[in-house]
Amino acid sequence: MRTNTINNSNIITREIKTTRATLQPITEKIKGGKCCVVGCNCEKAYNRIAVFGQNNGVYLCDYHNNGGKYGYHEKQEYIEHNGTRKTSDNITIGFELESMGRSKDVYAWLCFNNYLPTADCTVDTEYISPVFTSFSGITKQLATIEYFNNNPMFDFSVTNRRCGLHTHYGYKNQPISNNIRANCKTLFQPLCDYIANLSTNKQREFFGRALIDTEYCDATMTTCTKHTSMFNLQHKYTIEFRLLHFSNAENTVKMMKILRATLELLFRNDGILSNEEIAQIMVKKFDRELTRF
Ligand SMILES: [Zn+2]
Repeated sequence: MRTNTINNSNIITREIKTTRATLQPITEKIKGGKCCVVGCNCEKAYNRIAVFGQNNGVYLCDYHNNGGKYGYHEKQEYIEHNGTRKTSDNITIGFELESMGRSKDVYAWLCFNNYLPTADCTVDTEYISPVFTSFSGITKQLATIEYFNNNPMFDFSVTNRRCGLHTHYGYKNQPISNNIRANCKTLFQPLCDYIANLSTNKQREFFGRALIDTEYCDATMTTCTKHTSMFNLQHKYTIEFRLLHFSNAENTVKMMKILRATLELLFRNDGILSNEEIAQIMVKKFDRELTRF
C-alpha cells in the first residue's frame, strides 16, 4: 500500500508537470468553458487551471476562481444525498475534508472531481466529497490528497491540527433510520465507550488524533441531533464518524473500511437481534478489526 501510494505520487508529479507544460498560457479571454464546480451554472468561465487527470485544464468562473464556497444549507444537502444513492448493498461512503491553505490547483482538482467547496469557520475550506460506492475510488483520491498535502508546491493541508475528516456511511432505509435515531444511545454508547477507553496513544495511532485533541467530538451520546457526537445522526440517512483525522491515505482507508464493516452489522440487522445485542456485536467486531490495523 505504501509503495502504491509512492508510485502514485510519482505518477501524479509527472502528470502535473506534463499538464502544466502542455497548457498554453491564457492571454486573451476569447474562449471560455463551463465552470467545473458542482452546481455552478456559469457556462462562460474564463479562468483555465491545469489539473492532474485533465489534459486541457478545467475552467473556473470568477467567483470560484477566487475560492468561492457554498454555505451550510448546500453542504447539508450534499451530505444528505450520500445516503440516498442506491448501491448493491445500500451502503455508501462520503467524507468532509477540512483543509487549511488556499491552493488554487488543489481547489480546481477537488472541484473537478465533484467535491463541494464549502465555508467552515474553523478552517479555510471544507470540501464535501462526492458519494463513493466502493473503496477503489476513495483510495486513489486519498492518495492524491495525501500527495497535495505533503508537497510544499501546494498551499494545502489536511493534517493541520484544526482539520478533521468526518466520514459518512450512507444507507437508504427508513425503518433502520427510525430505529437508529430513536435508539442512538443504546446503539452507539458502547462503541463510544470502547474508543474512549483506548489509550491516547492508541487513539492517535488508529484515528490520527485522540479525543483530547479535539473539542468537536463528544464520546457521550445523548440525542440524535447533537451534531458533535462521535457518531452524529443529524442526517437522516448517514452515520457520521467525527474522530478521524487525516494522517495518511493508507491509515485513513484502513479505518474507513473498519468502520464500514462495523456499521454494516447495524444496517444488516433484520430485527432478530435486539439493539443491545447489536451494540455489543459492533464493539466485538470493531475490536477484532483493530487487531489487524
Ligand atoms: Zn463557478
